[in-house]
Amino acid sequence: MSDIIAAIKEFTENTAKKADTVYRASMLKLSAAALAKMLEIQYRELGLAVYKMCKSDENNGKEECEEIAALTVQIDGTRKRIAALEKRIEYVMGLVRCPDCGNTVKMRNAYCSACGRRLAAEEEKRVEENENQIEDQMLKITN
Ligand SMILES: [Zn+2]
Repeated sequence: MSDIIAAIKEFTENTAKKADTVYRASMLKLSAAALAKMLEIQYRELGLAVYKMCKSDENNGKEECEEIAALTVQIDGTRKRIAALEKRIEYVMGLVRCPDCGNTVKMRNAYCSACGRRLAAEEEKRVEENENQIEDQMLKITN
């Protein structure tokens, strides 16, 4: 009888130890994942700082900035594509952006709901005219 109790006690202790190990390991893994994410953000912030530094007129043409000039041009291109896609998404959703305050407004609205600016119908037309251009840019991204 005491053997059975001892065995149960040992089993329970081992199980608790295992569970504790699994718990601790998963907590450590979560911490590592959080730190990896933080590192990603820090790298991105570093990149943004360098990008801004080399975009400034006073640093334009400096040797160290020339090394990353090509990447800066690529980033500008990507940002333009993102802006074009965002505009396209808004258009598809029936929205336009107010040229004054940047608020998104339903296309059929005559006035901006945020600042009251009169929204010209030409804004809608202009977006429509850009449609083919935007489609081309979208194809370039997927290729
Ligand atoms: Zn507005």
